[in-house]
Amino acid sequence: MRQLAKARVSRRRFLQGTGGAALALSLTRLGYQAARPGAIASAQATGEEVVYRTWEDVYRKKWRWDKVTYGTHLVDCYPGSCSWRVYSKDGVVWREEQAAQYPQIEDGVPDMNPRGCQKGGCFSDVMYGSERLLYPLKRVGERGSGRWKRISWDQALTEVADGLLDAIQEGGPESIIFEFGSGEGGTVNGSVPAWRLIRLMGGTTLDNNALTTDYNFGLGATFGKYAFVSSVDDWYKADLVLIWHMNPVMTRIPCAHYLTEVRYGGGYVVSIAPDLNPSSIHADLHLPVKAGTDGALALAMCRVIVDEELYDASFMKEQTDLALLVRTDSHRFLRQTDLEEKGLDDQFYFFDSEKREIVKASRSTLRLGKVKPALEGTYKATLADGSEVEVTPAFELLKERLRDYDPASASRMCGISASVIKDLAHRVAKAKRVHILEGFNVPKYYHGDLMERAMALLLALTGNFGRPGTGMRGANTSPLAILTPVKDKAGLEGFLEFAQNAGKLQREIKDRDPTMTEEMVAIETERDEDIQGRISKHPMSGLMTPPMFFWYWHAGYKDIWNRPEWNDPNMPRPFDEYFREALEKWWGDLARPAENQPPRMLLEVAGSCLRRTRGGPKQLLEHLWPKLKTIATVEIRMSTTAHFSDIVLPAAAFYEKVDFRFPTWHVGFLTFTDKAVEPPGESKPEWEIFALLSKKVEEQARQRELGEYKDARDQTFRLDDLYHIFTMEGRIKEGDQEKLAEEMVADTVRVGGLPERTDLKKVREKGVIRFTGLGSEAGGLNVATTIRPNETVSPLRWHRERKMPYPTLTRRIQFYIDHEWFLEAGEELPVHKPPPKMGGDYPLLMVSAHQRSSIHSIWTVQRLMLYTHRGRPTLYLNPKDAEERGIAEGDEVRVYNDFDSFHVHCAVSAAVQPGEVIIYHAFEPYQFRNWKSYDTAIPGMVKWLHMAAGYGQLNYKHWNWQPMQVDRGTAVEVEKA
Ligand code: SF4
Repeated sequence: MRQLAKARVSRRRFLQGTGGAALALSLTRLGYQAARPGAIASAQATGEEVVYRTWEDVYRKKWRWDKVTYGTHLVDCYPGSCSWRVYSKDGVVWREEQAAQYPQIEDGVPDMNPRGCQKGGCFSDVMYGSERLLYPLKRVGERGSGRWKRISWDQALTEVADGLLDAIQEGGPESIIFEFGSGEGGTVNGSVPAWRLIRLMGGTTLDNNALTTDYNFGLGATFGKYAFVSSVDDWYKADLVLIWHMNPVMTRIPCAHYLTEVRYGGGYVVSIAPDLNPSSIHADLHLPVKAGTDGALALAMCRVIVDEELYDASFMKEQTDLALLVRTDSHRFLRQTDLEEKGLDDQFYFFDSEKREIVKASRSTLRLGKVKPALEGTYKATLADGSEVEVTPAFELLKERLRDYDPASASRMCGISASVIKDLAHRVAKAKRVHILEGFNVPKYYHGDLMERAMALLLALTGNFGRPGTGMRGANTSPLAILTPVKDKAGLEGFLEFAQNAGKLQREIKDRDPTMTEEMVAIETERDEDIQGRISKHPMSGLMTPPMFFWYWHAGYKDIWNRPEWNDPNMPRPFDEYFREALEKWWGDLARPAENQPPRMLLEVAGSCLRRTRGGPKQLLEHLWPKLKTIATVEIRMSTTAHFSDIVLPAAAFYEKVDFRFPTWHVGFLTFTDKAVEPPGESKPEWEIFALLSKKVEEQARQRELGEYKDARDQTFRLDDLYHIFTMEGRIKEGDQEKLAEEMVADTVRVGGLPERTDLKKVREKGVIRFTGLGSEAGGLNVATTIRPNETVSPLRWHRERKMPYPTLTRRIQFYIDHEWFLEAGEELPVHKPPPKMGGDYPLLMVSAHQRSSIHSIWTVQRLMLYTHRGRPTLYLNPKDAEERGIAEGDEVRVYNDFDSFHVHCAVSAAVQPGEVIIYHAFEPYQFRNWKSYDTAIPGMVKWLHMAAGYGQLNYKHWNWQPMQVDRGTAVEVEKA
C-alpha cells in the first residue's frame, strides 16, 4: 500500500508540474503512466477524447463504470483459473477485483474463494505498461539492435507470409518452426490459432511441455500418465500433507489457504525443501533436505516401512507391479513369450501362494479374484524350451534395492537425521490419507524422474492413491474441448465428423486388443504414430514434435550433451551412441526438421525462447539465429525474443478478447475472460491475426504459383484454399471469436464436460461454470474418476474402485521397468543418484523456482511488482558461502562455470543451505548486465535415459514421454564482481 501511495504522490506531482487544473488530460490509467502515448491511444480507441480537469475528477468518477465484466489471466500460473471482476470506463480498464464466486463443492470442505494473486490484481497496469506492443514493427537495424519502424498490418502479414512460403520452398514445410510458451495461453486465442495454421501448412510445432520441462517423467514412467490431479479442495481431506518440490505460499497463492485449513482441521503439514521457504514457515515440520537428494530421503522412508512391515500389502498386490514375477537370470519380467512358443510380450505372471503355481496376471482387470499373489520368495518357471529359470516377485528386488537406504546411510546422503526419517516414515504409515503437494520442480532435475518414482513408491507402499485426500500431482488441461480449434468444420456437423473419425480409429485400436481400457485407447489414438507405425489420422495426432532433435541438430546442443563430464557419470556409453540408437529404433519421423533440413522460419507466439530455453541466450543466438531467414513474434509486450525478431505483431491482452483459461481439475471450473475494452493501438486477438495471415499466405502462394507440396512424411498440403479451411469453411472468420468461443462451449457440452444447455451467454453471466465430466480426450480420462456435483475431485478412483488397469506396460502402477536401457542404467527400480556436474566441477549447486512477483515473465518488469522485491534479479546465497568468498549483502557477483557466466546482485540469507544458490526465474535477459541471464550459465542437459522408448508407457504422445532439458543443480562458482 505504501508503494501505491508513493505512486499516487508521484502522479499528483506530475499533474501539478504540468499545469494542474489547466491541464486537459486525455483519460489514461491513474498513476505514473499519465502521459504515455499507448494509454492515450487506448482511450482513443473509443473514438472520443475524454477530458478530465484534474486527477480528482478521475478519482470521483471512478466508481461509475461503463462496464463490469469477468476476466482472468491466460498465463500458465498453474493452476490459475481465478475469476476476476474487471471494471472499465471510457474504453479503459481501471481495476480488477477478485470475483470470489466459487461455490462450496462439498459440505465441510472449505470453498476455493477468493482465488487470485497480486499479479492478477495489477494486470490492468500491465495492459498499459511501457513494454506493451501497440503496432506491427519491422526491424530496421541488425537483429537485436532495438531499431524498429512501424508498419501496416498488410505489410507485416505479407512479410510473415513470405517468410513462411520461402521456408516451404527453400527448406520444406518442416523448416517452419513454431515455438510457443505459456505466456498467453487462452484456448480461443493465444497460441491455439497459430497451432492450427502451422499444422495446415505442415510446419514443425515444438512440444511446449518439453520447452518448459513441465512433464513429470517419474509419474509418466510409473503410472503411464501424469495428467491425474486432484482438485485443490481435495487437499483438505488429507491428514498428512507433504509439500515436496513445491512452494505454494509463493507460487500457488490462490490455493495456499488449504494448507492452513488442513492444519485447522487437525492435519499435519511437512515441508521438504532445501531452503526455509515461505511455505516452510507455515508447516508443522520443515525437513531441509540437501538439494537433489530427495530420492534418498524417500527411499529411506520406504526402507523403514518395509523393514517394519508397515506397508499395505493388499494395495501393492492389486494395484502395483510389485507382485509380478521377474527372472533372476535376465532381470526381465517373466512373459508369456518365455513360457510358450507363441504368446504376448506384455502378459505377465504372479506366483499364487495358495495354489503354489505361476498364474497369469489379468490384463483386463486389477481384480485379483481368487488369485493370491506372493510378494516374497523365489520360484521356478519352466520355459518354452523346457529349461528352468528362477523367478521372484519384484518386491523382493525392491527389498534388495532398499538395503542401501537404511536411515543412517540415507542421512549422510540427504542431510536429514536418521531419527527424523524414521519418525516421518512412521507418520506416513500411520496417516489415513497422505497427499504429496508436488510442483514442476522435480522434472527439472537431471534425476528428477528417480526422485518422483521414489516419492510415488512411498505413497504406493502405504496405499495412498485412488482415495480422497491422497496422491500426488502432475498437470491437467482438460476437459475443455480443445478439439474445437483443430476440427475441420464448424458446428455440430464438424463435431460429428471429428467424433466419427476418432471413433473409427478407436475401434481399430480396440479391435487389435479388446482388453484395452477406454483410457488406453484414447492415449493410443492420440499418439503421433499408431501402433502399426502409421501416422495417425486422428486430429489430435501430429500436433507437436519433441524438440530434442531440433536442439541437437540445429541449435548446437550436440557438443554440449556429448561432454561426458557434464553427464551422468554412470552413463555406460557415450551420449551419441544412445542418440543414434534411439533415433533409429524409436523416434524416426518424430525427429524433425531432419539433420539436413535447417530451420528457415521461426514463429514465436506467446512465449520467448531466448528467455526460457536452458542455455538459450547463448546457443540460440549463436547457432540457430543465423540459419533463420525470418523470425516473427506475436506478443503483447516486448519480450527478449521479440527484441531479436524481424517482425513483431502486437496481440490483444486478456481483457481485450473473449477467451477461456486452459482448465485443470485442480480448480475444475471453466473460467471465462470477456472483452472488456478494445485492444490498444492496432493490437489484435490472435484468431484474427492468424485468420488474416492464412488469407495472406493463400494470396502470396497463388502469386508464386505454389501448388501441392509434401512433407518428409509424404503428407500432402495445398495452400490455395487455406483461408477457407482455416476459418472452418468460412464460418469462423477473423472477427468471429465469439462464435469460436460458443463453439468450444457447445463441443464441451457434447463431450459431457459442461452441464446440458450451457452456452456462452450463461458462461458470460456466471464467469465460472464447474465441469461435469472428464471429456473425451486422453488427458481428461487420465484423471480416472467420476465427477460428482457435491464432491471434491480425487483422481485414480476408477483404478481402485473399478479395478481398471493403468496405461502402463504391466497395466499396473509400475516401479520395475525392465526396458533394456533402464537395466543398463541400474534404474529398473527407483534409486538415488546425485545431480551430475552440469557445467563443470564447481562447488555450488544452482537451483531455481518461480518468483513470487512474476509467476510468469509477463509481470517481470511490471512496476508495482518490482516495488515488491529488490526490483532486479537476485541470487540468494548462504552467509557462510558469502563470507568465504568475501561477498556482502547487495554485492554484484559473477556466477560462472565452464559453460558461461552472468552477473547478478546477491542477497545473503540463512534461509539458503550452504552449497546451494537460488536464482528465481522468469526474469528477462535484458534485466541482466550485457543481457546475459542465468540461463547463460545453464548448459541445458538432457538425461540420456529419457531417449528410451518402444516400451509401453515410454512412448511419445504430445505433452508426455520425451527427453527434456534440465537446469536444477547446475554446478557454479560465485565471485565478487
Ligand atoms: Fe490467478 Fe494466475 Fe491471475 Fe494470479 S495471475 S490471479 S494465479 S489467474
